[in-house]
Amino acid sequence: MKLCSVKLNDGFLMPMLGLGTSAPSKVAKSDVEEAVMKAIDVGYRHFDSAYFYLNEEEIGRAIWKKIADGSVKREDIFYTSKLWGTFFRPELVLTSLETSLRKLQLSYVDLYLIHFPVPLKPGEELFPKDRNGELIFDTVDFCTTWEAMERCKDAGLAKSIGVSNFNRKQLERILNKPGLKYKPVCNQVECHPYLNQSKLLEFCKSQDIVLTAYAALGSNSGKEWVSKNNPVLLEDPVLNAIAARHRRTPAQVALRYQLQRGVVALAKSFNPKRIQENFQVLDFQLTPEDMDTLDGLNRNMRYFVDTVCPRPTPFSLCRVHRSTRNPNRTVPEKQATCWLFTSMEACFLQRIHYRVTQWCVVPIRLAGSVPVQRENSFSYLSQFKRGLSLPSTEIVL
Ligand code: NAP
Repeated sequence: MKLCSVKLNDGFLMPMLGLGTSAPSKVAKSDVEEAVMKAIDVGYRHFDSAYFYLNEEEIGRAIWKKIADGSVKREDIFYTSKLWGTFFRPELVLTSLETSLRKLQLSYVDLYLIHFPVPLKPGEELFPKDRNGELIFDTVDFCTTWEAMERCKDAGLAKSIGVSNFNRKQLERILNKPGLKYKPVCNQVECHPYLNQSKLLEFCKSQDIVLTAYAALGSNSGKEWVSKNNPVLLEDPVLNAIAARHRRTPAQVALRYQLQRGVVALAKSFNPKRIQENFQVLDFQLTPEDMDTLDGLNRNMRYFVDTVCPRPTPFSLCRVHRSTRNPNRTVPEKQATCWLFTSMEACFLQRIHYRVTQWCVVPIRLAGSVPVQRENSFSYLSQFKRGLSLPSTEIVL
């Protein structure tokens, strides 16, 4: 089966379906090597990884083995890597990419993404933390990081450059940056029928930026950052009913849904049968009614919750309650309103109505957002972390 591709805004082609390669740390790294080789045999040409996944050596080895046995040439492969937050300082960006390339034994990546719009303190630690176990952020503006990404493209070490986990405002900061040389070609974000990202998708399309969906199958609750409490996407009755009607699996329908709305889909599997199954999404068509029904499943629900996220998530808010305000108390069910950071960098505070249950904080509705001075954002955040309410005089709607 031949895989279709999308033309990026810099002219390069990106296959619409990619193999995801991030797995819980307990999974043997040799599994990813086997999976990539199997995937190449099945027909995949797009592989998604990152410095952070600590598997680039194995992926590079798999690609080289398949080049050596004549299955593919380097130019047939589309390989994505990502810049981790500890390398945001412009002088570290190229070094970080070179480290990935050395591990991969490749001379270029096809796509290099800023992994998160959140800079972390440079150093060996992936998650630099202070004595209290709090993440230490850096103060680099990601627009400066972007300029270093542009230099990676100019140097030929990355064919294309893009971003990941950026919201619209963060994308706009790059797009409106004076002297912008290259637009991001894509924004890779969590996207599936429970979080269909329709507004972000519309915006990306309007800017000729491809949206790439991760967790398109609902991810895996065994992962460190994936919520254990959410409903399992692939068990959704509506998704299953559509799958049964087409004599397909729910995973195939979830992937096909993305392709038909112009979204590049990533699917991670290290299981040979499922690697094959996930690739068989090009020979059937969902009807417009199916697409509408799947759109109707959206509930703005994230599987990825407690990461160095562009916005402190409802889940981390819950941790704030537990760890700093009421360490030993069960949080009672209540409704409240508070201000949340949507982004360290874009410096938007967002007022959100939320409901606290014992295990999670469920956002009910957004009630407005307000830009704040970048210089103030860290003090707001530290107040927020200490559980203090923000002084209302400083927030002007
Ligand atoms: P995913 O692809 O939505 O789901 C992976 C899970 O689904 C695995 O447990 C896999 O198990 C299972 N699975 C795969 N095919 C299946 C099928 N046909 N039927 C039933 N279960 C199936 O989740 P993800 O790995 O979180 O996301 C995909 C990729 O996106 C990642 O691997 C990574 O490359 C990328 N990603 C990027 C970011 C970012 O911040 N940019 C964040 C998360 C992920 P088996 O392996 O056992 O089949």
